Amino acid sequence: MSGKNQCSRCGGKVVYFRAYSGEKMCSDCFMSSLVNKTRRTISKYNMLNYGDKVAVAVSGGKDSLTLLHVLHNLSKKYGSKLIAISVDEGISGYRDEAIRNVVSVTNSLHIPYKILSFNDVYSVDLDKAISKRLDKGLSSCTICGILRKRTIDILAKTVNADVVATAHNLDDVLQTFLINLLSGDSRRAITSLPAQEITKGFSARRIRPFMEIPEAEIVFYAFLNNIPFQSQDCPYMNESIRSEIRLILNDLEKKHPGIKYNLLKSSVDVSSLRIKQNKSYFNCSNCGFPSSNAICSVCEIVNTLKLRYPK
Ligand code: SF4
Ligand code: ZN
Repeated sequence: MSGKNQCSRCGGKVVYFRAYSGEKMCSDCFMSSLVNKTRRTISKYNMLNYGDKVAVAVSGGKDSLTLLHVLHNLSKKYGSKLIAISVDEGISGYRDEAIRNVVSVTNSLHIPYKILSFNDVYSVDLDKAISKRLDKGLSSCTICGILRKRTIDILAKTVNADVVATAHNLDDVLQTFLINLLSGDSRRAITSLPAQEITKGFSARRIRPFMEIPEAEIVFYAFLNNIPFQSQDCPYMNESIRSEIRLILNDLEKKHPGIKYNLLKSSVDVSSLRIKQNKSYFNCSNCGFPSSNAICSVCEIVNTLKLRYPK
């Protein structure tokens, strides 16, 4: 039995209390438990094969830099070859700091790094694309997310990645699930969380190794490992209902520790039912990329905002 202020695992000095498991942890046990939890998620969902080339999508925020750090820790076990990839959306005054952070972390871990901008792909940056929007119902984050996903697919192809790892954590995936449900988009809700996503026409699988890690634990791991924090928030962030859902879920978790994991289990179960039932893809009649509709969501945005799509 450990004492009041002793780590439940080694008896060391407690720095973290994990309410959902009742464990008190010292910094070393906390860090190794986060790495081990990530490893268990990877194994549980068969996310990695030995020797995979893993493109880690890094925005430069704490989550993605922490993912890079943790996958670097696990790379021996999986024989993974890591490469960091970033999308520069073109958000004035915001993305530059993030990219400086990525350069500093990739240099210190000796991981190669490649960037592609919205300007390279769509001949327009996000600031300009948003200013062209007439329909205010189309949120900045929707435009950004759809254009970014395609840019990441192109980057993954360019670097010949087997896998694209993104840093979506437990909170992100639950928020997305609820946002889709609350906006009446049940199709998107039940396709938002396959643990491993393979889009026909792309060789790279998409994985979310942090899908079972709460955001608060990632923040604490980043703090303990001196992973740089971005000082500014994206200027478009508050447009989203996401911030409200984050508060509600955090409040529920505080009152009922473990409730987020219950919701994760439900969303994974629902997603896997959908995958078993049917998963049909077309090729977009406009750009030829794989799509679940006749016209893909990228082309819909490109048409709505009258952007130029590369040949
Ligand atoms: Fe893009 Fe929204 Fe994230 Fe800003 S907050 S980077 S607009 S998805
Ligand atoms: Zn298309």
